[in-house]
Parts: sequence; structure tokens; C-alpha cells
Amino acid sequence: AEELMIRSEKMSVAGQLAAGVAHEIRNPLTSIKGFLQLLQAGVNREDEYYKIMVDEIEKMETITSELLFISKPMTDHKDKENLREMIDDVVTLLIPQARLKNIEVLYNQQSDQVVTCDRSQIKQVFINLLKNAIEAMEEPGCITVNNYPENNQVYIDILDEGPGITDEVLNEMGEPFFTTKQNGTGLGLMITRQILERHEGSLEIMRNETHGSTFRVILPNL
Ligand code: ADP
Ligand code: MG
Repeated sequence: AEELMIRSEKMSVAGQLAAGVAHEIRNPLTSIKGFLQLLQAGVNREDEYYKIMVDEIEKMETITSELLFISKPMTDHKDKENLREMIDDVVTLLIPQARLKNIEVLYNQQSDQVVTCDRSQIKQVFINLLKNAIEAMEEPGCITVNNYPENNQVYIDILDEGPGITDEVLNEMGEPFFTTKQNGTGLGLMITRQILERHEGSLEIMRNETHGSTFRVILPNL
């Protein structure tokens, strides 16, 4: 597989983030205000407008909860954790979402690894990457998760059969609020990189030889 980038130093740009947040929250607010004014004026398409407003509010909810997550993990609770258990938990959690799209998630564990980490943060990393893999796949297929030791590190590869990543998208990925999805927040990869940085780990993104992408999480093996 062709290696595209190794970066974990992208974020920590408070100003950029603040501007992004303001923008992301202002748009739904403007739209809700507009619909409320229409309702106030007595327009008779109430049901349609209420639905749009609820959608906009949900979008703000998602954004704010992801932002809270970013600001929260300043306190790491690191412990020796079993990697297989954490991945099993996450795969189980996401199976319903995968099934809806006829996607199978296969987890091949090649050896039992212990990593010193904040369990909920590392699970969040796998949730973010697996969700992206599921969302990327437009057709039924397979997502494969492999984990294996490599020198003093442990590698966890998540392979999807999605359309892959264009150079254009690759350049922007992980920037706060960059998303190509209708209902995306564009915060998942940024959070992922931030968590991995706090664990002296990293994220590599590769193009698969056939189709789709591989997201490789690297963590110190101790
Ligand atoms: P979101 O999922 O909310 O869009 P992310 O930060 O998780 O935000 O991802 C940013 C963007 O990176 C996605 O919108 C998508 O364009 C791209 N991306 C992430 N994972 C994949 C993947 N497995 N295959 C293709 N594109 C991906
Ligand atoms: Mg995502």
C-alpha cells in the first residue's frame, strides 16, 4: 500500500477552531430564526418547518458534544488495557449500524496486546475510524480490522472497501469541520489525532491496492 501521510501535529489551532465553531453554530441558528419568523408570520407549513428546525438543533447538539469531548480529556486516566477487549467492544457497538448497510466487520487479532491508555479515549478512536469506514462504503462489503505487534509498537489497521480518498480530500482531512458528508461534523479525525498524540501514538492513512482505504493506528506497546 502506498503511504500517504503521517501527521499528528495538525490541530492545537485555537483560533481556527473558534472561528469554525462560530460558523458551524451560526448557520443553524440563522436558519432556525428564519423559520420561527415564518411561523410567526402565520405560514401554514408548520410540520415541514418544525422538522427542519429539529434537524438544525440536532446538528448543533452533535457539534457541541464533540467539542466538549475535545475539551474534556485533559485528564487522562491511563491504565494497562487489553486491546482486544477494547476493539471487541467497539465492533459490537457498531455492528447494528454496519448491518443496516449490509457491511460485515471482521476482526482478526494476531496476538494479545496490552496498551497503557485511557480506555474511553482509545475506544473513541476506534469508534471514529470504524464509523468513517462504515459511512464511506456505499455498497455491501467488508471492513477488516487487524492488530499486530511491530517493534515496540502495536498496529491496528482498519481496512474499508469504500471509494478511497482523493488527494483533494486528503489535504483537508482532519482540519476542524472539514467534512464531505451531508450530516458530518468534520471533527472525528481531529479528535482521533488529538487522542493519539496524547498517547504518543499516531495515525497513518493509506490507499488500498484494490479499493478503499486503510487507517492505521499506532500505539506504544507497553
Ligand atoms: P465526518 O465523519 O464528520 O465527515 P471526520 O473528521 O471523521 O468527519 O472525516 C472527515 C472526512 O474525511 C470525511 O467527511 C470524509 O470525506 C473523509 N474520510 C474519513 N474517513 C474516510 C474513509 N474511510 N474513506 C473515505 N473518506 C474518508
Ligand atoms: Mg467521522
